[in-house]
Amino acid sequence: MLRIRNLRKIYGNYHALDGLDMDIHDGALYGFVGPNGAGKTTTLKIISGLLLPDEGSVEVDGIDALREPALLKEKIGYVPDYFGVYDNLKVSEYMEFFASCYGIEGLKARKRSQTLLEQVGLGDKQDFFVDGLSWGMKQRLCLARALLHEPVLLLMDEPSAGLDPRTRLEFRETLRELNSQGMTILLSSHLLADLAELCTDVGIVDAGRMLLEGSVEGITEKIHTSKPVIISVYKNMEAAMALLKEHPLVRAISVKNRDIMVQFAGSERQESGLLAELIQAGVQVRGFVREPGNLEAVFMQLTNHEEERVVLSYEYDRESGL
Ligand code: ATP
Repeated sequence: MLRIRNLRKIYGNYHALDGLDMDIHDGALYGFVGPNGAGKTTTLKIISGLLLPDEGSVEVDGIDALREPALLKEKIGYVPDYFGVYDNLKVSEYMEFFASCYGIEGLKARKRSQTLLEQVGLGDKQDFFVDGLSWGMKQRLCLARALLHEPVLLLMDEPSAGLDPRTRLEFRETLRELNSQGMTILLSSHLLADLAELCTDVGIVDAGRMLLEGSVEGITEKIHTSKPVIISVYKNMEAAMALLKEHPLVRAISVKNRDIMVQFAGSERQESGLLAELIQAGVQVRGFVREPGNLEAVFMQLTNHEEERVVLSYEYDRESGL
């Protein structure tokens, strides 16, 4: 659905985007995460055609977004992180005004507007003045507006900002529903926790570059297998070592007292298999643990500017699959 290569944007002499790559597959619910100033809004504005990059390519649903802005407009729905002022405009008028901008007029505009307002939970607010709506309702209205022309890719900049916990949950449900109907969605946030639970895929950006990208499941699994399994042996250390040295999924072993730390390239199911094999080999196992993979901790490490070595170690890890 979206393919970005080597995107660069320079403001004065400041490199807001510094060779960003991004891949979003059809039907993804993609979380674009990075600290403040990482380049998220700049990227979203370029994807939606509001800003031109200095270098790079953007392909949306098979079209060259930088060369075909008119076609791009049909494909993208953009919900920015601000909301304009709309004095004396009712919700239904607001929707019909934007519908007319997309060439949808009359009864068709009214019907489409009504359906979308109902879908986002504003079906009973059609006669309310826009400026009198709560922030959460304005956010929903903006979403409904962005869907008027039936885009294939929805972009939302910091959609959870300013929402109370309950409204945030309701809003997530609306997004999940839209995604389950086939809409590809890109959400940006500076909080990973906001997105990890909701999204199918994430991209972690910092200083205008993509540091890590992939499915939430795949990344979590990789992080998990990067942690050592710690096996505490009560008796028969020799049998344990003999088995581990020959095991095809064991990459490295170190021993401290009666604890064996094993770099084990297997899944959770294979971990339980290893435990069963040790017991079968006559090893008396007192403890068997692997610290769970934590996406949040990796995000904090990757985006910690003071710790340059963390980024370097990520680049090393990229080779070995993290
Ligand atoms: P936030 O989460 O704070 O919105 P962001 O990840 O969306 O941050 P951007 O808004 O894309 O980041 O900004 C990236 C960098 O570019 C920031 O350092 C910002 O100050 C700078 N920047 C953005 N727009 C401009 C501009 N028009 N002129 C100069 N610098 C800009």
